Amino acid sequence: MTSAVWHPFTQHGLGEPIPLVTHGEGAVLHTADGRRIVDAISSWWVTTHGHRHPRITAAIARQAERLDQVIFAGWTHEPAEQLAGALVRLTGGGMPHVFYSDSGSTAVEVALKMALGFWLNRGEPRHRILTLEHGYHGDTIGTMSVGARGVFNRAYAPLLFDVETLPFPAGDGQNTLDALETACRAGPAALIVEPLVLGAGGMLFYPAAVLARMRAICSAHGVPFIADEVMSGWGRTGTLFACEQAGIVPDIMCVSKGLTGGVVPLAATLASEAIYDAHLSDDRATMLFHSSSYTANPIACAAALANIAIWDEEPVQARIETLAARQQARLDALPATVRHRRRLGTIAACALGPADAGYLSALGPALLAFFRERDLLLRPLGETVYVMPPYCISEDDLDHVYAAIAEAADRFAGGI
Ligand SMILES: *Cc1c(COP(=O)(O)O)cnc(C)c1O
Repeated sequence: MTSAVWHPFTQHGLGEPIPLVTHGEGAVLHTADGRRIVDAISSWWVTTHGHRHPRITAAIARQAERLDQVIFAGWTHEPAEQLAGALVRLTGGGMPHVFYSDSGSTAVEVALKMALGFWLNRGEPRHRILTLEHGYHGDTIGTMSVGARGVFNRAYAPLLFDVETLPFPAGDGQNTLDALETACRAGPAALIVEPLVLGAGGMLFYPAAVLARMRAICSAHGVPFIADEVMSGWGRTGTLFACEQAGIVPDIMCVSKGLTGGVVPLAATLASEAIYDAHLSDDRATMLFHSSSYTANPIACAAALANIAIWDEEPVQARIETLAARQQARLDALPATVRHRRRLGTIAACALGPADAGYLSALGPALLAFFRERDLLLRPLGETVYVMPPYCISEDDLDHVYAAIAEAADRFAGGI
């Protein structure tokens, strides 16, 4: 079959099969050729409560009957108002202003623009952004600039702006903290980090104590602290937001992915009073100059409200704890050849094969094909295999996932 579709992160020249998905339910996807696929990565980290949660699909249908879309510059609607209030409540009230956009990347772009606007409007322009080694914040030019450089963005490198990258925390993270302390003295515009877990960088975890110290150093120097919770939010790390485990409130926080339970696109950038106030005046020149056509789409906001109702009224936290324990038990039972086993909340990861393979090594695609043949949606990051399923995944399906990982560990122990 020829297709007009150009897929993301896909080398069409390799001729790899692209399954046609017809429907989804819970942690399972069904394909046109009759296969039942276990969605072990939550359709790229978005699906939290499972595919087609009835509460979210009903909220979408209801909202579609009332108001589908409206310009959000100078106009508002009930779902956006309620959702903003709920997000402020869920994050403890320290970031009382909510700016909507439609993807994780745009939420991060907005965060960076807020930080730069903050400084310009105070009459002390600053541009330098501090980042963490191996970070990932999206695929637009700005978000690639603050993320790790590599083959993914080599073609665009001349357009990416310079940032200062802090080393990834080793051990107690003193290396990172010392570098941050020094960098803060030079007056940067902001620090952006993925709290507790660097996702696309390879599911790399670092301690909550390091996150808390990074936040404290930024506070001491008056440097805005941006938490990119696009992946870590909505329970992935065991708490609603990863920042809670460090007991911190950022100045700016980005959420997306699980915001609508992973059903429709929506993102939000939350800001502290100080960030908002810096844009507030009777001069139009100091406003936040950002919008996208579908800012705060009412249907997406209704889906997000349903997601929050699920958090408020269903035993989501208990499901997360059960899944976390089940992941740990299965991770522990993998063959001895499996390296670097780790788990944070509902995210489990390990390394297969003999040595550091890197993203473009042949091991990644070989593993991808291996899991696809076993009706599993797993998408290794090089040698790193991670399991990040919807919280409703059954024990049988989880067993199927880990049986395949164990088989892959044996099959690829000596390489491909
Ligand atoms: C996925 C991701 C993004 C980008 O989100 P998109 O919706 O894909 O644009 C940003 N930050 C982190 C930490 C992510 O994992």
